[in-house]
Amino acid sequence: MTTPTFGLVLKVAVALPAMTGEVGEYLADVAALEAAGAEAIWVDDTAVEPWVMLGALAALTHRVGLVCKLTSPDRWPAAQLGGAAATLQALSRGRFAVGLPPDSVLEDQLAALRATGVRIFRSDAGGAFDDGEGRWAAIAAPPDREAWNATIGAYDSAGAAGVIVPWNDRLIDLLRNLGFDVAVAESTKVKQNLRIAGAKESHSVCPYCAVGCSLVAYTRQNSDGSVQLLQIEGDPDSPVNEGRLCPKGATAMQLATSPRRVESPQYRAAGARGWKSVSWDFVLNKIAQNVKASRDATFVGTDASGNTVNRTEGIAFAGGAAFSSEEGYFATKLMRGLGLVHLEQQARV
Ligand code: SF4
Repeated sequence: MTTPTFGLVLKVAVALPAMTGEVGEYLADVAALEAAGAEAIWVDDTAVEPWVMLGALAALTHRVGLVCKLTSPDRWPAAQLGGAAATLQALSRGRFAVGLPPDSVLEDQLAALRATGVRIFRSDAGGAFDDGEGRWAAIAAPPDREAWNATIGAYDSAGAAGVIVPWNDRLIDLLRNLGFDVAVAESTKVKQNLRIAGAKESHSVCPYCAVGCSLVAYTRQNSDGSVQLLQIEGDPDSPVNEGRLCPKGATAMQLATSPRRVESPQYRAAGARGWKSVSWDFVLNKIAQNVKASRDATFVGTDASGNTVNRTEGIAFAGGAAFSSEEGYFATKLMRGLGLVHLEQQARV
């Protein structure tokens, strides 16, 4: 196998195809690419309305750069182009950029883009893009890891700022596990200031399904005493997932940091039109009252043949994906004790 000799400076951008399938999978791929370390996501303007799509990606992501590749800029009037770029620059908190073909942009369109402060990439005849700070080569999707390592190493040695690679099913895995030669990396003069440098490392388990992939969470205490969650990633020492996470698990950090996270129980009273936040005491009492009322109303002591059954079919129970064996055992004992027949477990994605 070819040993990569790159010094951790080359960046990888991914050019997504037009969205043709399930929107959830498309967005999950973007989230997973960001978690895997992609530097930027490129979307072109040939299919789905690019500004709406990039707005959705800006809301979904928090770090990765978002680039709209304009294949025929004269299709977009300068005012519309400038307005869309300014909006996306604000939505993405400064992560938006445009990629332009060579020599085909009208001056007023270029001026409208420059006025927004977005990063502008111009392509050359060879298909590479340059933003004035470095050259990004457009490469083909690698057939395997060896080809990937060789390609990345070659462009890194040649001084490219990055590569733009078309989406491929294996990219997330390749990005996560670049196969760095640690000795080469340590001997290089290039040093990165890691976002997780000096952070506290805590081990945990993905909450989403019964595969139980191991996670490493990085936290840092701020000067005001608050604790900031910096990163969650797969635990490379785990025999379960060996550092990998599926797209769902790769977004685990959002479970803790999303501004849309629900932080208290929600209750909608019978006949009410909306939900309201309630206390845990309220909701636990409510569950207990409803369990008792349903059980009392539906409890069957003996069946039609006179057999003692002591059961209720008026209540069902679903266990959570993150149940331990002991919690599952306890829940089953409790529910069977109440006479429940219908028990289920979310033991899958
Ligand atoms: S949801 Fe994905 S990452 Fe989480 S435990 Fe299941 S397979 Fe692993």
